[in-house]
Amino acid sequence: MTSICSAIHSLAGRLYAILWESRCRVCGTPCPPKDAIPLCPECAAELKPIQDAFCPGCGEIFKKKDTRRFFCDNCLHNPPPWREIHFFGIYDHLLRDILIDFKYHENLAAGNLIGSLLAQSMPDSFYAAPHILAPIPLSKKRLLKKGFNQALELARPIARRFAIPLIPDALIRTRETRPQNTLNSYDRYANIAGAFAAVPQKVAGKHIILVDDVMTTGHTMREAAHVLLRAHAASIRVLVAARTPKPGG
Ligand SMILES: [Zn+2]
Ligand SMILES: [Zn+2]
Repeated sequence: MTSICSAIHSLAGRLYAILWESRCRVCGTPCPPKDAIPLCPECAAELKPIQDAFCPGCGEIFKKKDTRRFFCDNCLHNPPPWREIHFFGIYDHLLRDILIDFKYHENLAAGNLIGSLLAQSMPDSFYAAPHILAPIPLSKKRLLKKGFNQALELARPIARRFAIPLIPDALIRTRETRPQNTLNSYDRYANIAGAFAAVPQKVAGKHIILVDDVMTTGHTMREAAHVLLRAHAASIRVLVAARTPKPGG
């Protein structure tokens, strides 16, 4: 009787593993149980890391099929304060839907999924040297209202996978700002100027990976990077889940 019970138990465990642990993390379709990040073929096809060559300064995607990494004209004239940028994909289609669900509908599992995919796609240069992860912070008021910081949640799976120290308060917001996605380029610059402070004891001499969910004009990242460099950070790399497509591009 005991052996029948244990056989049923083990079968139930296997069924549980097949039915539960191997469902697509986006749509719930059963998929191969061995995948590190279970995704069905349809979702996996839509959630591929960026394949095109892009400017390592601003992330602008190059139209011609060139795999060399070189700076675009804008970055040559106005170099960004960071060494390199990496993003998982374009802010469009399924990636955009998942990020909206995560950011505005408190779907933290969706954030964990995108953070895991971002970690999987990260180039060696982001973790070969000892870095720290610094998420773009929210103001205290916004954090209290929202309940979580999307940049911090995206950074958690990356910190776990590569054992990179995650320092949520390396950067702090010194004042309220309006949401950048409601403003034009000039107003975005004015809105974010002077909005951050760095904690020198946490950043001086450190190689820093700045993390955020979406990058559009890059004003927020530039401001954060300048503040960190003024506090004697050794270098900055930028890691974002998605880059908005260039208008008309
Ligand atoms: Zn799916
Ligand atoms: Zn560029």
